[in-house]
Amino acid sequence: VSDLSTMMDVPVNQVIGACMSLGMMVTMNQRLDAETMSIVAEEFGYEVEFVNADIEESIAETVDNEEDLEPRAPIVTVMGHVDHGKTSLLDYIREENVIAGESGGITQHIGAYGVQLDNGQKIAFLDTPGHEAFTAMRARGAQVTDIAIIVAAADDDIMPQTKEAISHAQAAGVPIVFAINKIDKPTANPDKIKEGLAQMNLLVEDWGGKIQSHDISAKFGTGVKELLEKVLLEAELLDLKANPDKPATGTVVEAYLDKGRGYVSTILVQAGTLRVGDYVLAGPRHGKVKAMQDERGNDVTEAGPSTPVSILGLDGAPQAGDKFNVFEDEREAKSIAAKRTQLQREQSVRTQKTLSLDEIGRRIALGDFKELNLILKGDVDGSVEALTDSFQKLSTEEIQVNIIHKAVGAITESDVLLASASDAIIIGFNVRPQGNAKAIAEQEEVDIRSYSIIYDAINDLKDAMEGMLSPVF
Ligand code: GDP
Repeated sequence: VSDLSTMMDVPVNQVIGACMSLGMMVTMNQRLDAETMSIVAEEFGYEVEFVNADIEESIAETVDNEEDLEPRAPIVTVMGHVDHGKTSLLDYIREENVIAGESGGITQHIGAYGVQLDNGQKIAFLDTPGHEAFTAMRARGAQVTDIAIIVAAADDDIMPQTKEAISHAQAAGVPIVFAINKIDKPTANPDKIKEGLAQMNLLVEDWGGKIQSHDISAKFGTGVKELLEKVLLEAELLDLKANPDKPATGTVVEAYLDKGRGYVSTILVQAGTLRVGDYVLAGPRHGKVKAMQDERGNDVTEAGPSTPVSILGLDGAPQAGDKFNVFEDEREAKSIAAKRTQLQREQSVRTQKTLSLDEIGRRIALGDFKELNLILKGDVDGSVEALTDSFQKLSTEEIQVNIIHKAVGAITESDVLLASASDAIIIGFNVRPQGNAKAIAEQEEVDIRSYSIIYDAINDLKDAMEGMLSPVF
């Protein structure tokens, strides 16, 4: 609000007044969404130009013809509770699966790697395990993962982070293959895990369901091959395809500054083919690809869909989750990079990207709002279940209330990331944000509502959905 008033050179109370006449009670420091900004500016005789939106539109992806599409390998993320064996599984696969004709395993960590099974089929793995990394990427707008392997240790229970991982995968619409790990342990009881999953309405094959799962030992490699075959089966159902014959597009997985070589960025090509010499724009960074290496440290000259490569030549380190594009016109790439950098620096005109409870009524009235995603955290199971029931009953024909994650415990950083990635609101019942969660929520503009009376929580939500929530200052 105050930035808009400065830019238009209109007193801030007049801008606040204009918002009020639109039915919005705002404060000076409030962020306005794109639409409100346009309407308010118009009232003072200004037209808003969204530079960011223009940039992104100019590099929007082309639509492929069906006949140009070819099958591509699935991209897989491994998630699960801490110490259940994510790293061990990724390490085992990395060390054991050596592409035919290659000597030695994968020596470098570049954030992603590709493997080829005996039958020639390939899988690309993201080598940063955990749902936090997965959802952080999604919060940045990158949807990279096709399939999630969720590891659950058979000598343990279904743990909080197992549940989180499941919610995060489901919220992203990514199919899950369960890896029931540590079956070499004498105390292992895979059935207990499967029973626990069944109680969460997740029926694995052995239990008559459709969700694939396999018992494995990541330590000894037992069942890992079969697990990967199931991943490929799942991939077949997804019918993953991409057009390899066009300039590459994809996502940055990680990047760092190497003293000798300059900025090294690992990227995952998702469509098209990337070649040495291509001019790349990745987030606000750009440059000509000077060299490319695969995860074995071999130089490669091109990389097609679902291939991770590390590239040299960018003028800085892009962030994980930044998208990259190839440009024929070097000047165009540079100019977009410059605009993005400027935008990042200014951060003044920003469209509100996440949802707040106050926003809901307005968006429903505008008719562009169909689903309300909620994350529910409470102090005890009873209150979480009671709230779930009540919230779900608030669904109407026009608007569906989805509880994308619910759990007992404080509001965590990963809850906030999930909310940001899924445009959800967090409802805390007798619990507060923990650690960094509050700071990240502010940064990501995620709305966290805390309640200690169930009735209040239900009423607020109901009011919001009816567009009657009184604003909180
Ligand atoms: P992460 O936190 O999920 O990445 O778990 P790690 O892969 O670091 O594994 C945690 C611990 O469990 C380590 O000490 C591993 O050696 C051990 N571990 C992992 N997988 C297995 C397994 O299949 N069998 C046994 N016995 N131990 C395992």
